[in-house]
Amino acid sequence: MSDPNTMNSAPGTHELGPVVLEAKGLYKDYKLGRGRNAAVLSAVRDVSLQLRRSSVVALVGESGSGKSTVAKLLAGQEHPTSGEVLLDGELVHHSGRRAFRAYKSEVQMVFQDPFASLNPTHKVRYPLERAVRLHRPELGREAVAQELIRVMDEVRLSPAAEFLERYPHQLSGGQRQRVSIARALAVKPRVLLADEPVSMLDVSIRLEVLDVIDQLRERFELAVLYITHDIASARYFASETLVMYAGEIVERGPSEDLSQEPAHPYTQLLLAAAPDPDRLGAPIDERLARSARLAGNAPVNTVGCRFSDRCPFADDHCRAESPPLLPIDEHRSAACWRLDLAAPNLVQRQREERSVALPQ
Ligand code: ADP
Ligand code: MG
Repeated sequence: MSDPNTMNSAPGTHELGPVVLEAKGLYKDYKLGRGRNAAVLSAVRDVSLQLRRSSVVALVGESGSGKSTVAKLLAGQEHPTSGEVLLDGELVHHSGRRAFRAYKSEVQMVFQDPFASLNPTHKVRYPLERAVRLHRPELGREAVAQELIRVMDEVRLSPAAEFLERYPHQLSGGQRQRVSIARALAVKPRVLLADEPVSMLDVSIRLEVLDVIDQLRERFELAVLYITHDIASARYFASETLVMYAGEIVERGPSEDLSQEPAHPYTQLLLAAAPDPDRLGAPIDERLARSARLAGNAPVNTVGCRFSDRCPFADDHCRAESPPLLPIDEHRSAACWRLDLAAPNLVQRQREERSVALPQ
């Protein structure tokens, strides 16, 4: 297995690939109940992101924060209330089955539950063959057969021919997830949306499956969105990390910087809840640890910062006006009015660096 530290180097250390898939200002509201007075749950608010060729972006947040909704919007399974999705800079329209199929042959999804995503009555061969035939009708019988062997080899299920004849119940969770990845790969996509692909797997095999995805990313120059509630794995796997809270991106930046020195109080909490032995950062503010529990993530506040009711640094401004993502430096930003309290060292250093950089 490759060293996790060499996985997917951070931005700045290599040329950034071109943007393949982009979200601009996505919103998704769900109506709860019927009629004119039905409550509206805004599951996703103003989410923008860019997935670049051959790199991984992590989308991190607790359950209910809107991660899967973002994935579904990107995959075209849900339509945004407002905002845009662009593939190679062109607005995506899902008008008609053909257009949607063409889109799906570029943008594939891998789901969390390897048990639910494979039909138990079909052998492994079936969904793979179906994917290849549907999306690559130009391939003849022999070519399809070769293709199935190839994708099984790519996800390291060998002997491939033998695995193709098995039923899902004859596979472990990790092997099923590899089949799901193989099915996505069979389409030859350029974008892979992986929604908590290892969350339901045994801890002991998670890294192995992530490693498979990472090697495919490199080999096929895939643009990958890696969705997870485990911020520690984001650091190893993704060059950029986006942190979501209650439907909004509250912090974004290079994974390494963000995990070493989180800015947003929510990111600090997430990191404190997922201790990583390699992390050098200081322990979080005691007040933050005491006052904010990592539970209950109901996006109910509609005015002000959605995190304000859990945040010990919140003031009247925070409760009145929702903070936009404000730049911390060239690569990082956080949606917090009180970074001076939440991340004083970071803010201080940025000030010093800026004053050095400014001409006298
Ligand atoms: P995550 O993947 O981060 O756990 P989701 O995107 O699944 O979060 O859900 C975000 C919020 O949107 C949750 O409060 C969830 O209950 C709500 N939600 C998701 N899908 C629907 C739907 N189809 N109808 C109503 N509410 C939904
Ligand atoms: Mg989810």
